[in-house]
Amino acid sequence: RVQLSRSGQKMSDMSGLRAIMEDVATSTAVDASDWLNLSIGNPASIKEVIDAWSSLTATVAAEDFTATSSRYGPSRGMPALVEEIVRSFNARYGWDITADNVVVGPGSQMLFFIATALFAGPAGEDSFRRVVLPMTPDYAGYMGLSLEPDGVAGIAPEVELTGDRSFRYAFDFEALERCPDIGMLLLSSPSNPTGRSIDGDELTRLIDVARRRDVPLIVDHAYGAPFPLVAASEVAPRWDDHVINCFTLSKAGLPAERVGFAIGPRHYIQSMVSFMANSVLHAPQLMQLVAARALSSGLLDSLASSVIRPFYRDRRNYVERLLTDLLPDSINWRLHAGEGGMFCWLWIDHDWFDDMALYRLMKTKKVFIVPGRHFFVNPLSMAPEATYATRCFRISLTPDEHVIEEGVARIAEGLMELRGTS
Ligand code: PLP
Repeated sequence: RVQLSRSGQKMSDMSGLRAIMEDVATSTAVDASDWLNLSIGNPASIKEVIDAWSSLTATVAAEDFTATSSRYGPSRGMPALVEEIVRSFNARYGWDITADNVVVGPGSQMLFFIATALFAGPAGEDSFRRVVLPMTPDYAGYMGLSLEPDGVAGIAPEVELTGDRSFRYAFDFEALERCPDIGMLLLSSPSNPTGRSIDGDELTRLIDVARRRDVPLIVDHAYGAPFPLVAASEVAPRWDDHVINCFTLSKAGLPAERVGFAIGPRHYIQSMVSFMANSVLHAPQLMQLVAARALSSGLLDSLASSVIRPFYRDRRNYVERLLTDLLPDSINWRLHAGEGGMFCWLWIDHDWFDDMALYRLMKTKKVFIVPGRHFFVNPLSMAPEATYATRCFRISLTPDEHVIEEGVARIAEGLMELRGTS
């Protein structure tokens, strides 16, 4: 038996969602063709996007392989990419950043992990600081960031009913104000899983909390501006002394290549660069140069605005129509307002509904969905009235249309069966 440290035990444990992803991998490996996977977090395969990345990568590999891939580079990131980030963000947003404000990492997930290790955790004799998610549900990948048990905590949302079939979460700022021992604040916008986008006033209030606690607010723009622009409206990232903005190429079509970057005040970024040096040395360089070229030539912007954004807008409209047409009228289902992102977040407001029961039932129908509870931190410790933590599920907009259509039809059947057996 391996003797694991306390953090070793924590990190080698499978969190709920990771277990489900394994489940998906195992079931689909045997015979992928008859499973309908509505749980995927991959970006959609859009031919134009794949062709553009593949051809640019081939050019860069042919011209610059030796310079990028045959030698180590700086932990902050390749100067060509860092300079291009500085130029393009200053031009877009009127900022005044320099290379000192930028760190490139192997995907944004690693940057969140680094920030968590730097800004949260044990901080002195009796002091312990948590990563606080100002609104749950939020990205399930945040739940495992801390090496410490209970190192991540989330604030339950307020719920607003916005129409017969729609709803929207709101921040509970008072609960956030009461929250003790904050080490850093973290949220995705547009959000995975809900699709909610933060507005300017909300961002100002969160920054105000961060400033008063003197902690960083990390804003994860994986789906937002300036790319991939899977968002209904463009919410510009904000420069502030207490904000670290994170960006990634993943949802713009390169999830497996692991290139993301953070922009923030020098005092935070310098520690992140040192952590990079101590842990992974630096991010892969061939793709850093590809990213630099895609930014400087305008390719990334044009893919985002003329291909990726319209693709997801149309797809969302299509899935909304499907849900309205196929889900039973007699069931009280609601869809979270879609302000961006790659998912639909559904709430089934009935006592008989349980997200895990639906997940299991759908597996017997060869459909994967993601049970909602994995997007809440410690759902069982939430207030008893917060039943929505077990009454939601997520489906993805990215599978092919016929897969989504058949999958939603089977979900409709599954809901009727669940109601019948309760
Ligand atoms: N942030 C959000 C909100 C995500 O949904 C994901 C992936 O699903 C990530 C970050 C991971 O990004 P990366 O590939 O840059 O690590």
